[in-house]
Amino acid sequence: MEVSRRSFLAAPAVLAAPAASQKVEFRTLGRTGIKVSSVGFGCMVTSDPSVIERAVDMGINLFDTARVYTSGNNERMVGNVLKPHRQKVFISSKTKAPDKATAMKDLETTLRELQTDHIDIWYLHAKDTPEQITAEALEAQAIAKKEGKIRFAGLSLHNGHAEVIPAAIKLGSIDVILTTYNFAMAATMEPLVKSIADAGIGVVAMKVMAGSMKLDRSYDFDRAKAAMQRPGAALAALKWSLRVPYVHTAIPSIKDTDQLEENLRAMREPYRPDDSKVLAAHLEKISPLYCRMCGTCKGVCPQGLPVSDMLRYLTYSEGYGEYALGRENFQLMPAEAQAVRCGDCSGCAIQCPNGVQVKNRLMRAQELFA
Ligand code: SF4
Ligand code: SF4
Repeated sequence: MEVSRRSFLAAPAVLAAPAASQKVEFRTLGRTGIKVSSVGFGCMVTSDPSVIERAVDMGINLFDTARVYTSGNNERMVGNVLKPHRQKVFISSKTKAPDKATAMKDLETTLRELQTDHIDIWYLHAKDTPEQITAEALEAQAIAKKEGKIRFAGLSLHNGHAEVIPAAIKLGSIDVILTTYNFAMAATMEPLVKSIADAGIGVVAMKVMAGSMKLDRSYDFDRAKAAMQRPGAALAALKWSLRVPYVHTAIPSIKDTDQLEENLRAMREPYRPDDSKVLAAHLEKISPLYCRMCGTCKGVCPQGLPVSDMLRYLTYSEGYGEYALGRENFQLMPAEAQAVRCGDCSGCAIQCPNGVQVKNRLMRAQELFA
C-alpha cells in the first residue's frame, strides 16, 4: 500500500521497526526526528535487487539513491524493490540541477521511478562550493516541501567541506547533510561534522570505507586492475564512522549479502583499540592512492584538471569495481579537461600533502577512461 502525502504528514516520526530488527541500532536524524538505522543502504552500485530486499527484512530502513545513478536505472530498480515496503522505509534521492525548472522536473521523474508520491530526503547533489547552492535549487526544495513531495531538504557534498558545511548550516533550510566522512579524513572532518549535528541538522556519512581499495597485495600502478573487494579494514572503517553520536547514520554502498551481514556487525560491535591499529596500517597503505578530499589542490593544476573529482572517479573503478560509473563521470567533465594528458607534463604542479601520487593516479584515470 502506498503512503499518501496526507498520511505520512500525520504519521508518527518513528516508523514501526520490523521484527527482524532487534539487532539493528536506530539513531535520531537531527531535527527531522525520524529514527534511522545507524547503517543505511547506499544503492549506487547495487545491481542485485534481492540484496535490497534482504536489507529490508533485516531491519535497515534508510535507502539512498540519486537521479543520476546508472542514468536513472538505479531509482527504477530501488523503486521496484521498495514499493511493497514503502511504509516502513525512508528513501532519499538527489538532483544535480542548479535551476528550479530542471530540479522540479527531476523530482517528478524521481517520484515516478521510485513509485511513490513523496521521498523522505531530497538532496541538492554534489554541492562542492557554496556558489553551487543556487537560490533556484533552494526554492525548488521549499516548493517541493510545501507540496508534500519531499519531507526533508538535504544537501550532499564530496569536496569543499570547510566552506560548504558552514554555508549550508547558515541557510537554515537544510535538514540533512550527506557528507564524505571516514578515518582518513578525521583531522579535517571531525569538527565540521560535529558542527552539523550541533546545529540540529541530520548527519549522514558516505564514503566511509575510504575507497575500498584493493590492498591484499602490493599495489602496482602499471598493472592495477579494477576489482571490487572488501579490505580487511572495512568493518573497522564502518565502526569508526559510527563511533561518535553526532554521525546519525552511514550509507555504505552494498553489493551483496556478505557486505550486508558485515555492516550489521558494525552496528552491534563497539569500536575497539584494535580497530585503530587496523585502520592505521590501512591508512599507510592507501595514502599514495586515496584522495582525502581536503581541497588543498583545488585550482592548482595549471591545466585545470579537477584533481580530486578525477581521483574519485578512479576510486569508483578500482575500489568499487564500477568501471562504467568511473568512465561515465569522467566523460561528464569539460572536453578540454578530458583531453589533458598528465604524461605530457614534465613534472606535476601538485604535491599532495597527504601523499597521493597525483600524476600517476591521473595518468591511470586517463588510460582507463579517456
Ligand atoms: S589530491 Fe591530495 S591535496 Fe588534493 S584534495 Fe586529494 S588529498 Fe587533498
Ligand atoms: S601532471 Fe599534474 S600539473 Fe600536469 S596536468 Fe596532471 S595534474 Fe595537472
